[in-house]
Amino acid sequence: MNNAELTLNWKRALDLLYEDPANRLKVDSWFRPLLPYRIDESKGIIYCSSQDSNSFAKNMVNRNQAILRGALFQVIGRDYQVQIIDEKDITPEEHSQVDPFFGEEEYLNPRYSFENFVTGPNNRLAMAACLAIADGYSPEYNPLFLYGDSGLGKTHLLHAIGQYVKKNSPERKVLYVSSEVFTNELIACIKEKKMEEFRSKYRNLDILLIDDIQFIAGKPQTEEEIFHTFEALHRASKQIVFSSDKPPRELGNMPERLITRFGWGMIADIQPPDYETRAAILQQKASQEGFDIDSDMKEVIDLIAQSIPSNIRELEGAFTRVVFQAAALNQKITKNLVKQVLTDVFNTKDQEITPANIKRSVANYFGIKVQEMESSNRSRSIAYPRQVAIYLIRKHTNLSLPRIGEEFGGRDHTTILHSCEKIAKDIKTSESLRTTIENIEKQIL
Ligand code: ADP
Ligand code: MG
Repeated sequence: MNNAELTLNWKRALDLLYEDPANRLKVDSWFRPLLPYRIDESKGIIYCSSQDSNSFAKNMVNRNQAILRGALFQVIGRDYQVQIIDEKDITPEEHSQVDPFFGEEEYLNPRYSFENFVTGPNNRLAMAACLAIADGYSPEYNPLFLYGDSGLGKTHLLHAIGQYVKKNSPERKVLYVSSEVFTNELIACIKEKKMEEFRSKYRNLDILLIDDIQFIAGKPQTEEEIFHTFEALHRASKQIVFSSDKPPRELGNMPERLITRFGWGMIADIQPPDYETRAAILQQKASQEGFDIDSDMKEVIDLIAQSIPSNIRELEGAFTRVVFQAAALNQKITKNLVKQVLTDVFNTKDQEITPANIKRSVANYFGIKVQEMESSNRSRSIAYPRQVAIYLIRKHTNLSLPRIGEEFGGRDHTTILHSCEKIAKDIKTSESLRTTIENIEKQIL
């Protein structure tokens, strides 16, 4: 994996984590500021730098190894640990190699292949059309317009076409691009007067795969350029594939001439998978990861497939989280473990402002356990979150100081008062503490 791919995979892994609301705070506050700098393929370690050198970042990463590894595994298909390195240990070359703004143009995820795509009644037509296109020019499918909700396999199929063509007919020129990258590149080329190059790149192709076309709606220059690109390719009998989260007619704000053209070939939808297809996807994933599909595993797959109805990305994410928690806790994967790990799936979040909920949010934010906050542990990485939780409980509930003390392992009311005063005072001088408090409040209020 080169550095650009590392950066991209890292970004994808964080996006994946972000889809689970329970992870959002962690991702924004702790993981996004990290930059991946170096990968050691033989040891399976990704090294990241943290701009703020306090030990919380390190702590957070260590405590969240399981979910980070799970997300990276989902994206890369291999298990990597994450370690934080000091800024000073990064060589200047490594510094200059990393481009946080690297786009996703042309990178195809090897995991997204036709072989790994499980078909069911929900996606059979879409899959067949994609295979036909990958196999050779198919005028009846030109363009192919693929639509379906998020997480149902559109990007997977586009990447699969790209990879199949590169492997089986390398003489055909194929390009995958997200609408976002297309738009950004267009803007840059207009500014730098490089439209000639832009057009030659997008018009000298045998297959152009454009992902998430819904994003260009309301962007006149991009719409215009997509229109002319389409005309040039279509006239030359070159294949175009679009993906979208809605059918053409429902793309509000899209110019009529584009909507019409989207329907010139074939429009194929992907529906949410039924229960059997969900279970088949999980089975495939489990065997890919080397698990025996014994009766325990079957039960687990059943339970997850039943609980997550609509989004395959979430389905895979749930499974990966279970697998990595099992590894982290050194436990066998069982139904009970699934229920424990996927509490957010099984318990609908209750919005009440209770000491328990505040403690849970704070613990989650700092990546520690509620029991640690309640314990007598006085290390800073525990004591500080504890003070924050005490402050928030005092502020948002009307519990008395002694009652709050009980919530924290029977601490004395003077200790509680001291914590409240300390945080109240620190907020005045520390911007970062203010942000922390605001972020947690966003979650509990
Ligand atoms: P979309 O682009 O529609 O939002 P993706 O293509 O990113 O969805 O798919 C989300 C995840 O689900 C990916 O990891 C993908 O590999 C997986 N996935 C989707 N459909 C299938 C399928 N039919 N078989 C196996 N994996 C699938
Ligand atoms: Mg997609």
